[in-house]
Amino acid sequence: MKLFIRRFPDPALREKADKIKKLDENLIEFADKLKSLMHANKGCVGIAAPQVGFLKRLIIVDVSKHKKACEIHGLLVMINPEIINTDGMVMNREGCLSVPDFTGNVTRSENIKVKYIDLKGDEKTLSTSGFEAVVVQHEIDHLDGILFIDRIKNSKRDLFDRKKY
Ligand SMILES: [Zn+2]
Repeated sequence: MKLFIRRFPDPALREKADKIKKLDENLIEFADKLKSLMHANKGCVGIAAPQVGFLKRLIIVDVSKHKKACEIHGLLVMINPEIINTDGMVMNREGCLSVPDFTGNVTRSENIKVKYIDLKGDEKTLSTSGFEAVVVQHEIDHLDGILFIDRIKNSKRDLFDRKKY
């Protein structure tokens, strides 16, 4: 099955995704396809399973080629990610494959600690900051049906037409 990106206002983007209970071959294959889809979109640094209509808690982040990244942990496939600590605030211009017409200034935590299960089934914790931390938070939002546009308080000031970006 070929994956395709759901776009706002697709209702799948508004669902709360379920926890993954079993790590099997199907899930590993799905994660691989999702990674390929992410890398096929130039400049894309993260993707979440609900963006292709798969309502499970899985995200992929890879900021290693991005100029804004300071802290970089390479390709991260996170199952059931959960933020367990936050510190500081930072504002960043965000975009999203599911909201292709806009970018926006979003304020998020600058430093985070996140726990998750990796593709081997091992429990991990990761501390990161800056752009990578922002991307992880953006992708985890997708698991709860939240889009970056929801976090913009003043759309006149902080929401931008993508073509003018
Ligand atoms: Zn997104």
